[in-house]
Amino acid sequence: MRYVLLTIFLFYCTFASSQPRRDKTDFKLLAYNVGFGGLTAGIGATINKPKEMPLHRAFLNGFYQGCFGGALQYGGKKLIHQVVKHENYWYGLPAKLVHNTGASIVQNAALNRPFGRYWNMDLWFLRFDFAPDAEDNPFRVRFNATILFDIVAVGVQSGSCSVDWGKSLKLGTLTFYTDEPLYGHRRQDIVGRAYSNSFIYTLRSRDVHKTVAHEMIHLFQYREYLSFNGWVNPFVSKAPAGLKNLFHNYIYIEPPYVSPFYYMQGYHGKENYYRNFYEYEAEWFATNGYF
Ligand SMILES: [Zn+2]
Repeated sequence: MRYVLLTIFLFYCTFASSQPRRDKTDFKLLAYNVGFGGLTAGIGATINKPKEMPLHRAFLNGFYQGCFGGALQYGGKKLIHQVVKHENYWYGLPAKLVHNTGASIVQNAALNRPFGRYWNMDLWFLRFDFAPDAEDNPFRVRFNATILFDIVAVGVQSGSCSVDWGKSLKLGTLTFYTDEPLYGHRRQDIVGRAYSNSFIYTLRSRDVHKTVAHEMIHLFQYREYLSFNGWVNPFVSKAPAGLKNLFHNYIYIEPPYVSPFYYMQGYHGKENYYRNFYEYEAEWFATNGYF
């Protein structure tokens, strides 16, 4: 299986690098996405390995699968530009499906599980888990409680916001809007803000499609860092049985692993806004590199 995955990845890289690129940025972002998936899954797989499994085998097993998942995550991010290109929000859903599939593969690999053992999908405030080989409960639907934080944060951001039901449906993501200006760090104007599972945009944005695509990428970034769940799995698995049952069957929480990394990149003024890697990546995929 690993050789199949590696071959697919190499074909993918060759295809991507053979394009007459405006520059090498797209390929660097592919390498980042693939490498991030591979490394986080590889390290997770060594943390969760059975005692008898050699360290290097555990790492490589996780790494190969993580690379494949990372490539799919990149593919999902690439797809989001179609929202802008065709001015059609329905493209948000397939982009999210592809990205979620990639994230599932990385998360599964980080737990040192065999390929395809476990899949997940996040829609609105629901978390769907599918484990085809599980003996009990192969299909679970949990309440994604992180959305409660989002709702409070959106309310603080804008007291006059409303749910955009149309975009929420088309993007598979709870979407809020306001006609007031939004403010980011240092009170500078921003046109959208993403949280864990949802985002808000202002109607004052000059290009709402682009703003939506940009914020969707931030949500994808948030999701990618959930592969760190594999790293903390040995601690979480020691939790009391009642608590584990609650979170296993009913409630799901997404820790904000990405936040410290985002803040380390810093907030910058308008002219240097994209010095922050996560902002740069979001704008790159939203505009297909034209910004
Ligand atoms: Zn942004």
